Amino acid sequence: MQAFVIGNVTVDETIAIDDWPKPGASILGAQTARDLGGKGCNQAIVMARCGVPTTLVAAIGEDFRAATIRDVLGHEPVACHLIQIDGRASDFSTILTTPDGENAIVTTTDCANHLSAAEAHAGLNEAAAGDLAILQGNLGKGTTTIALQTAREKGMVTAFNPSPLRPYFGQLWPLIDIAFVNQGEARALTGADEAEAARRLLAQGVRSVVVTLGANGALLVDADGAVHIPGVACNVIDTTGAGDTFMAVALASAVLRATALDRRAISDAGAAAAITVGRRGTHSAFPSAGELQAILAAG
Ligand code: ATP
Repeated sequence: MQAFVIGNVTVDETIAIDDWPKPGASILGAQTARDLGGKGCNQAIVMARCGVPTTLVAAIGEDFRAATIRDVLGHEPVACHLIQIDGRASDFSTILTTPDGENAIVTTTDCANHLSAAEAHAGLNEAAAGDLAILQGNLGKGTTTIALQTAREKGMVTAFNPSPLRPYFGQLWPLIDIAFVNQGEARALTGADEAEAARRLLAQGVRSVVVTLGANGALLVDADGAVHIPGVACNVIDTTGAGDTFMAVALASAVLRATALDRRAISDAGAAAAITVGRRGTHSAFPSAGELQAILAAG
């Protein structure tokens, strides 16, 4: 079993500021972190560190950030199918943080928007029936749809994280086996609270829905009913990447035991996400391969 993550990769620059700038202002800040990010990249790295053979299919630009992306990914156990988009800058995020813990994030999507449907299709060339296709909301409608259709034609299991939210997601649910949504996404997508939101996604063809509830854990809803798995108490430093850690570990826990998503997968995911929440940054906050394998072995 292999996993193919078709998504985005960014370089995240975090800048600490004393207060939010007014329009037109120039202010001073201090860089506190430079880290790899992007939901696709995050999920692929965590999945690979869990011990699942994983390929990341993503677009990068023709610039200095592309070299950083290749270098950092070169030290991860993930196989990379990076498509260089000529003349474009790699996607990046500027994360502004204030002393009271608030943050604001601006992310460019030039490369993610230019990952073509043909390239996403080609990225699944090596995939076989039973492999996992994992997508998020950063790619365009045509590319996301073709990637999911290709995965279905190959008999792969499809997992989708509809973040960031886009208007076209409503047409995708019949192509999706497993969906991971947070509380805000659940409400925005269906107009309902978590359990009812999950049931509405099941009615559109999804087999398992996980609604993550921040510190309150997560709800797993499938044809057998709904199970709530409480969160793991931890010292919260920075929640960036918690959702990506959670999704990757839940899927890895299930596939490594050759089972459908179950209570243990969700509780393994919560234990791993609590580690991410307890550290600053994105890539630098993820649990190590050793930490992940200890969680997965303990059950
Ligand atoms: P993010 O955008 O911050 O990556 P998200 O909005 O996609 O996350 P959340 O529901 O906030 O998703 O968090 C995902 C999972 O991370 C939760 O189900 C939980 O297991 C863990 N988590 C998040 N916040 C906390 C917290 N404060 N304490 C413990 N666990 C947490």
